[in-house]
Amino acid sequence: MKFLTTDQLDAFLGYVAGQARVVAPVKDDKGVVLFRPWAPGMPVELDVLLSKQSAKEYVFRQSETYLKFGYTMEGLAAAQTESPEVAHAAATEAEVAAVDVAKAQDARVKAFETVVVDPVNEAPAQVIFGLRPCDVRGFVQMDNVFSGYGGFYFDPYYNAKREATTLVAVTCRDPRSTCFCTSVGGGPAGTEGADALLTQVEGGLTFETFTPKGEALGAFPGFAEVSQAQSLYAETVKETAASRVAPAFDLEGVRDQLRENIEHGDWHDLAMRCISCGTCTYVCPNCYCFNITDEIVETRGERMRTWDNCFNPMYTLETSGHNPRDIKSNRFRNRFSHKFWYYPDKYDSLLCSGCGRCVANCPTRIDIREVVRTMGSPRPVTVTGEEA
Ligand code: SF4
Ligand code: SF4
Repeated sequence: MKFLTTDQLDAFLGYVAGQARVVAPVKDDKGVVLFRPWAPGMPVELDVLLSKQSAKEYVFRQSETYLKFGYTMEGLAAAQTESPEVAHAAATEAEVAAVDVAKAQDARVKAFETVVVDPVNEAPAQVIFGLRPCDVRGFVQMDNVFSGYGGFYFDPYYNAKREATTLVAVTCRDPRSTCFCTSVGGGPAGTEGADALLTQVEGGLTFETFTPKGEALGAFPGFAEVSQAQSLYAETVKETAASRVAPAFDLEGVRDQLRENIEHGDWHDLAMRCISCGTCTYVCPNCYCFNITDEIVETRGERMRTWDNCFNPMYTLETSGHNPRDIKSNRFRNRFSHKFWYYPDKYDSLLCSGCGRCVANCPTRIDIREVVRTMGSPRPVTVTGEEA
C-alpha cells in the first residue's frame, strides 16, 4: 500500500495522462458529475458518491462504428472505358450501341456486387480513474457476456477496449440510502475487477494495487510510503462504510421464486408506474442490450452498434410482426428476471452490482429492491388457484 497526498493528485493524473487517456468524474457546467476525458487543471470530483451515469460507455460505447463499407464503381468505370474498343470491333452502329449498353449494364451489376469492408476497432490505452467498486463490478458482469464465458460469444470490439483499460476505483466513504452493494456480493471497498483502489483518508489517499496494470501506476514517483496510522484509518473508513449499507433483501431463493412467479399478476401491478423510458437501463453499469444498424449514404455506409433497452416495445419485435414481449409488464418482468434469474443461470453470478442508480434516477420511483423483495418471494394465491 502507498500514500498519495491530496496535493499530489493532479501530478499523479498528469503522470498517468502521459501514458494513456485518463477518464475521471468531473462536474459539468450544470453541476452534474459525469465521467469525461481528463485534462490537466480539471478538478476531479471524488466527494459526490456516484456519477450520473457509470463509466461503461468508455468500453461499451453508447454508439460505435463496427465497420465502414462501400460499393466500388470500378467495374462501371472499366465498362465505360471499354466501350470504344467494343465499338471498334462491332460491324454496325446499331450493334455498337447494343453491345455497349449490354457491357455497361453487366459492369454496373458487377460494380454493385463489389463490397469493400473496412473494420473499425480503435482501442487506445485508457485509465478510468475514480469509479466506485460497484461500477467496477459492472465491467466484470459485462465481461461475462462479451468475453467468451462458458464458450459463449467473444466480442473483439468490447475486448479490445477492455484490455486497453485500467480501472482505478475509490472506496465509497459515504454510501447513499439507495446503495445495496452488500446485498449482491459487493461492498463499498470491493476490489473485484479493480486494478487499484484508492481510499480517502486524512491528508490524502491510500493506494492499493491488485494487478500488473495497477502496479504500473504505482511507479509514479510522487507516492509516499503509507504510515501505519494511515493504513488503519483506511481500514476504518472501509468498515464504517460497509456497516452503513442497509441490507436490501436476502438473495437466498430469489432465482427460484422469480421462476415460480413468472405468470403472477403482481408483475402487472408493479409495472403500472413504469413509463418505459429506459433510464434505468442507460444509467446501469451492467445493462448491455444493443441494436445494430447500417447507415448508408449513396455507396458508402457504416455498421453501428448502439445501446438499446429492453423496455422499448420494439426491442423484441420480430420481422414476422410477432412480439414475444408485447405488453409492458412482460418487458418490465424481463429486466428484473434477467438480472436475478436468466443471467445467473447462464453466468453463475448476478447482473446487478447494487449501485442504486436505477432507484435514484427512475422518474416514477420504481425501486429494484422492492421488485426483488416482492417477486423473489413466495406470492399468495387465492383459494381458486388464481393469482392474488
Ligand atoms: S426508469 Fe423507471 S419508468 Fe423508466 S423504464 Fe426504468 S423502471 Fe420504467
Ligand atoms: S440494476 Fe440498478 S442497482 Fe443494479 S447495477 Fe443496474 S442501476 Fe445499479
